Amino acid sequence: MPAIPRPEHETSPATLPIRKHRFETPKLRVHLEDISHEGTSNFLSNIKGNEDLDTQVQNVLNLLYTPDSHRPGTRSVTFILRDMGGVAYTTGMYLDDDHKEIHISLAYFKNKPRDEMLGVICHELVHCFQWNAEGTCNGGLIEGIADWVRLRAGLAAKHWKQEADGDWDGGYQHTGFFLEYLENRFGPGTVRKINICLRKGKYDEKDVFGSCCEGHKVDELWEDYREHLKKKKKHEDDEKAASEAKAAQDEDEHER
Ligand SMILES: [Zn+2]
Repeated sequence: MPAIPRPEHETSPATLPIRKHRFETPKLRVHLEDISHEGTSNFLSNIKGNEDLDTQVQNVLNLLYTPDSHRPGTRSVTFILRDMGGVAYTTGMYLDDDHKEIHISLAYFKNKPRDEMLGVICHELVHCFQWNAEGTCNGGLIEGIADWVRLRAGLAAKHWKQEADGDWDGGYQHTGFFLEYLENRFGPGTVRKINICLRKGKYDEKDVFGSCCEGHKVDELWEDYREHLKKKKKHEDDEKAASEAKAAQDEDEHER
């Protein structure tokens, strides 16, 4: 019997250049609760188990650690694809927190493109390996770091928008883009330092941002970021207006 044709395996080049060091990959396992679900088929047809999952683990570890940093002792990650609400979440196993489970909604994966599935996997893998100030870290920062890694891995979701409404710790891409601003302003490795600052002791915002961002307070940095976005937007609007004016002028000349 001929093999069932599979969709062309597209690679996402943006996810590759981050890899510098080869970290030891924990055992990666998968549990498919419903093999006849379209979400299962979509996952199996588009995600290459022997490459993609390891690539994302390496991306996460390279962005959050250097080869000699202390890392959590995660020994295995089990992907559980099942019928559930929402998108995905990560949890430690009941008896041993070094064994993680990533639960993924089959309904969500049913008709998502490859990059969105990889993006969700990348985000959840961050939760398997990031520090969290012994469980006391601000949830917005935890989720922000996860989406920052996803952004840096070249897997930002299509609907993501950079904005500075509300507080810095709104979480997800809202905080992820802010962390990207800090990474650019204070230099490569800034977010890695923030993660490493969350290794021991209770979460102390002043200490974390002070030691990773040249003594600044996070609220001041957020204000700076807001100004930065305003300027960036004005610059883009000016450029757009100038190019429209130029196009109109060219058309005028053409008509004459
Ligand atoms: Zn998350």
